[in-house]
Amino acid sequence: MTYTIEGKTGAWEIVVGLEVHAQVISHSKLFSGASASYGGEPNTHVSLVDAGFPGMLPVLNQECVAQAIRTGLGLRARINLESRFDRKNYFYADLPTGYQISQFTHPIVGEGTVEIELADGTVRHIGITRLHMEQDAGKSMHDQDPARSFIDLNRAGVALMEIVSEPDIRCPEEAGAYLRKLRQILRYLGTCDGNMEEGSMRADVNVSVRKAGEPFRTRCEIKNVNSIRYVMHAIEVEATRQIEVWEDGGEVDQETRLFDPSRNETRSLRSKEDAHDYRYFPDPDLLPLVVEQEWVDELERALPELPDDKRDRFIKEYGIPRYDASVLVAEQAIADYYEEVAKGRDARLAANWVTGDLFGALNRTGRTITDSPISAAALGGMLDLVSDKTINGKIAKEVFEDMLETGDSAAAIVERKGLKQVTDTGAIDAAVADVMARNADKVEEYRGGKDRLFGFFVGQVMKAMAGKANPAMVNEALKKVL
Ligand code: ADP
Ligand code: MG
Repeated sequence: MTYTIEGKTGAWEIVVGLEVHAQVISHSKLFSGASASYGGEPNTHVSLVDAGFPGMLPVLNQECVAQAIRTGLGLRARINLESRFDRKNYFYADLPTGYQISQFTHPIVGEGTVEIELADGTVRHIGITRLHMEQDAGKSMHDQDPARSFIDLNRAGVALMEIVSEPDIRCPEEAGAYLRKLRQILRYLGTCDGNMEEGSMRADVNVSVRKAGEPFRTRCEIKNVNSIRYVMHAIEVEATRQIEVWEDGGEVDQETRLFDPSRNETRSLRSKEDAHDYRYFPDPDLLPLVVEQEWVDELERALPELPDDKRDRFIKEYGIPRYDASVLVAEQAIADYYEEVAKGRDARLAANWVTGDLFGALNRTGRTITDSPISAAALGGMLDLVSDKTINGKIAKEVFEDMLETGDSAAAIVERKGLKQVTDTGAIDAAVADVMARNADKVEEYRGGKDRLFGFFVGQVMKAMAGKANPAMVNEALKKVL
């Protein structure tokens, strides 16, 4: 179903294209040997190249190129064996060279695609237009002194990948799903940590609106939105604003805007008329970048299994529902944990325990899978006790809670608390007889046709046996005598 916003003149469709800046994971910067690590005292990760000293020459960091190629491969995109670096000229205090080295006409990665899945199960493919490499700028600090601003060049020259999508996104939910998927792929690949709070992934959001079937209308670009939730809000708010402009007989100007989450509005930053003319030209300090197909193939062979492939394998290999598989591949560490639990065991049961009880416990205790109080081996050990009928499903919940609290193994807990399932037919038959004797009236009613009382008897017998009876055997025994 198409997502639309209802205006005075009918339904409007939203059109969105995203430009995502993703900071490359690398030891050093794109064109210098200075550290690319986050934080640090201001101006301690700066080489003369980053500071734009006269006569300094950029030297391309091969690892950053490899990261861009890996990302391109992860986006199922075309790798351009020849690409170029251009100068994007503008003056700003945090840009000491007066230009940013970027890739304008010849990016390293061309068209690709990202598969997204919506809450209702719809699968869509969002086109990738390109990915290019560029340098980050420094940071102006206006809050250190009442009269002066300072510049921190630690970020200056750090490698970024700009990943541009086609205008294929049609609603806030799709934008959110796209960004989550992109972040997931980058994390799997180890090419960007996807941490939006630290600014290592940020999005420029292009929004326009149109009536169904129309060609695209003018878009506005909302700059530097730094959380997925804000991207989704910004789209909604900006689309609503544009609809009002069109419906009031006005015209949407192509402009750059800012999203203000505290007021839930976008504000104009600059119009097309005062858009920068960057006077791009090929950087004369850098040769065209030529990579060998063999190297690309080598990088491709070394790629980890990507989330979509892993999900499909989980469905096939473990026979679990698609939804569970998607949840379990959300992060590499979760997928690894699940596989360790599932290997050689009832994989569906394992999926239920991991996505249900374990995730619940992690949420409650504010932990992540990597510092889970119950290891995969320990959870697997507990599932073994369920499978070999040492404990039943209900007791398993109790054992799990105890494991969380004490860190003991399931076997030790079962031993300590005497939770072993009772499979002795004599004991079960005795409990059944006792329950029937104490509830003669109900037995009467049951035999008179009140079938749903059966559950009551099961409950009473289980209670009499402190929950430890084998439920299937209790059912059997009851059926026999009732
Ligand atoms: P620029 O280089 O000026 O930023 P691009 O053509 O590269 O322009 O487009 C930038 C982004 O805008 C892309 O993500 C693209 O998908 C998106 N976009 C282009 N046209 C529209 C439109 N009419 N509505 C929404 N987004 C659009
Ligand atoms: Mg742009």
